[in-house]
Amino acid sequence: MKKFLYIIVLFLAACQPKQKDTRELVSVSILPQKYFVDQIAGDLLQVNVLVPPGSSPHNYSILPSQMKDMAKSKVWLQIGLLTFEDALKDKLADINKELAIVNCSEGIEPIAGSECEEEGHDHEHAHHEAYDPHIWLAPAESKIMAQNILNALKAGFPHHSTSFDANYERFISKIDSVSSLIDQKLASLTNRNILIFHPTLGYYARQFKLTQTALELDGKEPSPKHMKSIVDLAREQNIRVIFIQKEFDAENAQQLARELDGEVVIIDPLDYDWEKQLQDITEKIAAQK
Ligand SMILES: [Zn+2]
Repeated sequence: MKKFLYIIVLFLAACQPKQKDTRELVSVSILPQKYFVDQIAGDLLQVNVLVPPGSSPHNYSILPSQMKDMAKSKVWLQIGLLTFEDALKDKLADINKELAIVNCSEGIEPIAGSECEEEGHDHEHAHHEAYDPHIWLAPAESKIMAQNILNALKAGFPHHSTSFDANYERFISKIDSVSSLIDQKLASLTNRNILIFHPTLGYYARQFKLTQTALELDGKEPSPKHMKSIVDLAREQNIRVIFIQKEFDAENAQQLARELDGEVVIIDPLDYDWEKQLQDITEKIAAQK
């Protein structure tokens, strides 16, 4: 009987409706941006993330059920360089006229997207972005993003400005220390070439003076011709590590690793915990022989 009562109590506890979240709503495109907003807003705002874990931000299309949260959002912080964001922007005009759409890449010097390999190739593939959108993976660009987010949050929620300012200062110091940590870790690195499946480390490579080569070309699986040129390049540059994002099929990377007598190393650039992820990526690059 006692056990039975216990089960009833547990059952009732589980059925208790969750306290309704009454905080004002901000939308962001990808999960690492939520980390940025949380750093600046603390728990003052509710954050809606558009691209769910496991989905690609390059060819995402928003679910009809997600429109409800977009209609309730006061601000949408875009990366500003993702094609899905443009498509969505038009749809939002009707459902939320008050929505402030903010481009987090404002003020960043963008890196051009990869060129098409084959001549006469038409440029109308869906996944191809004009500029590299992976701005959040370099501390220098992250600081500009943080400034853009601070401005947007202060404009949208002026009553919290004092808290935002104080948190922002702390966040900037954190970014600075992550940046100097990376500098230290990579200072003695002699081979500054990195091979990666999907080119997420362009801005990181620009800041820390590395050279990134991608297996993927225009968001597509590598052609045999491209694979061959990568093998030659990797041998010449003595590269044995192939980085791959956890969402991607590792088969091509594994095949390449076998040819180079090397290994595939997994990274997670869309992880929520920006600081942990940058440290992890750095450790793995620093461990390259
Ligand atoms: Zn990407």
